[in-house]
Amino acid sequence: MITDDSEPGRSRHEPSAWLAELRDILGRKALTPHFQPIVDLRIGELYGFEGLIRGPSDSVLHAPLNLLDAACQAGLLPELERACLESILGAWAQAPQHYRIFVNLSPGALLDARGRAIRGAHLVEQLGLLPGNVVIELTESHPTFEYGPLLEAAEFLRSMGFTIALDDLGEGFSSLRLWSELHPEFIKVDKHFVQGVGSDPVKLQFLQSIHELASRTGARVIAEGIETDGDLAVVQELGIDFGQGFLLGRPAPQPNLRQSPSLVHRLKPSIGGPASRHRTTTTSRATAERLLLPTPPVSPSTNNLEVLSRFIRQPDLLSLPVVQDDVPLGLLNRYTFTDIMSRPYSQELYGKRSCIQFMERDSLIVDQSITIQALSERMVESDPRHILHGFILTRNGRYIGMGSGHDLMREITQMQLSAARYANPLTQLPGNVPIQEQINARLDAQEPFAVCYWDLDHFKPYNDVYGYRRGDELIQWTGRLLQEGFTESDDFIGHVGGDDFITVLPGDDWEQKVRGLLLRFEAERQAFFNAEDVEQGGYSSENRKGQMEFHPLVSLSVGVVGVLPGVYANLHEVAAAASGAKKMAKRQSGCSCFLERRMPLARSAQA
Ligand code: C2E
Ligand code: CA
Ligand code: CA
Repeated sequence: MITDDSEPGRSRHEPSAWLAELRDILGRKALTPHFQPIVDLRIGELYGFEGLIRGPSDSVLHAPLNLLDAACQAGLLPELERACLESILGAWAQAPQHYRIFVNLSPGALLDARGRAIRGAHLVEQLGLLPGNVVIELTESHPTFEYGPLLEAAEFLRSMGFTIALDDLGEGFSSLRLWSELHPEFIKVDKHFVQGVGSDPVKLQFLQSIHELASRTGARVIAEGIETDGDLAVVQELGIDFGQGFLLGRPAPQPNLRQSPSLVHRLKPSIGGPASRHRTTTTSRATAERLLLPTPPVSPSTNNLEVLSRFIRQPDLLSLPVVQDDVPLGLLNRYTFTDIMSRPYSQELYGKRSCIQFMERDSLIVDQSITIQALSERMVESDPRHILHGFILTRNGRYIGMGSGHDLMREITQMQLSAARYANPLTQLPGNVPIQEQINARLDAQEPFAVCYWDLDHFKPYNDVYGYRRGDELIQWTGRLLQEGFTESDDFIGHVGGDDFITVLPGDDWEQKVRGLLLRFEAERQAFFNAEDVEQGGYSSENRKGQMEFHPLVSLSVGVVGVLPGVYANLHEVAAAASGAKKMAKRQSGCSCFLERRMPLARSAQA
């Protein structure tokens, strides 16, 4: 484990010595803030910073825990915490403010509630900060706790626009009860459960359960203490949204806005990388389900004041769905709604009325099984406001959650980036990785499909005689021909490399199209040869031994494997069958096709 040089263990000095020291520090305001980045792991970008306090570097009270201990024992905790806030927020006010700032507050500080909260809020205001950008991290510090006043204080802070995080979940007394009563927007999982999570099944289980619980309650998880690539990979793999730890950035006197390039590379979701398996794909089979944001809905019996308080509590909530008996009715949009409710007398006039009064009834409602591609087409064709307001996701007509236009755009961009990354440079068609993904997705879907392995015959001598440029053109033309031949939205055309192509076609009515394509190739290929060569059906060239050899015109062969559910166990079996079929096709002269259709039990082959 990496140790933090700022935390050399708690002070064991004589009380009188540190008491004088503490008073001196408070008197001189000798506190310095540090800022540690919190990263949005879904997009690999900075989300905010946690402010962490430090005493003078040569003092036994350098480490924050020592400072806090000392202040607690001296009865000076409120003064210290006030000074910490001033120091951290004061420095933060100089920094770019579109990031979030997370500050620590002890429940004691919070419990002294109103007065202190108001002073804190004034501080925020004086510094020109927006409460909506300030997240208050709360740790439960005692086993027996007065919940009532604490919740009241938290509610009060929320009403002023602050966001609440439950800190150190799993450590000390930070408990599920506080979680269930406080409804924090963020849950910070203690570093104990993150460090080495890759090799500890119990930690893994813990993190996974927290993540699931959080997504059901609309809270977002921040994994603390990410120290190694291994920790990061597991956290991302679990789909946890935010991370903090030495690997992502150590606490530093200035907020460090620049991530190291190697880190950026590791963080950006990428296909084939550890983070990508759940999130990105180049195939068009990905569905809207991956955009699901579980969002507790309201019902027609919810009144407008309750909706308003929900929007205040959850500053990131763009729209609130209205649902009755699992059936979605429409959306309440944050901006439209708060705009109406902030007009004079609105709260008195409408506050107690049903929220359906201001509900948009023509919201975009889609089933979770719709593909991302199809969803984005619907989005583009429909009212532009859906991109801002988001859409409702259903399963068999029942409400399951929300999706945001922003997430959809990110997913589409990711798919395009991945597609570009794995495209064949010559034809721009998807290369090996997406081809494999496509076949895997088809196998998973358990429906019939065909894999066609296309290959040009006698291509090498063509390249030698006509030159590489003409050779490239012939390959590009073949790619275009395939694209023109297989135009269904579910048809997939990939370019393995060289003169090899793969098409993956759904269903079982592809045979005619495949044969039609060979005929078209044969009919149109003469454009690539001299008239004389077309006449002779080929041309001669010198082989390696210096002898003249006759080569027929380039032809196209295809081996087709008709895949029925349950016949092939995996991608490798399908790929082996496809290259076997291609070899059989190539044994025949001219443009030719070999079909391989294995039956679930009795296996058969036909030419
Ligand atoms: P915390 O709120 O849990 O803050 C995170 C602590 O974990 C910080 O220690 C940070 O430096 C450390 N840390 C971050 N990433 C890693 C990592 O990858 N590995 C390891 N081993 N540690 C990591 P720090 O700065 O020593 O703060 C200790 C505690 O003191 C904080 O724990 C917080 O409870 C308290 N604290 C710090 N500043 C303040 C403050 O301004 N006000 C209050 N009330 N408490 C503060
Ligand atoms: Ca904290
Ligand atoms: Ca913490």
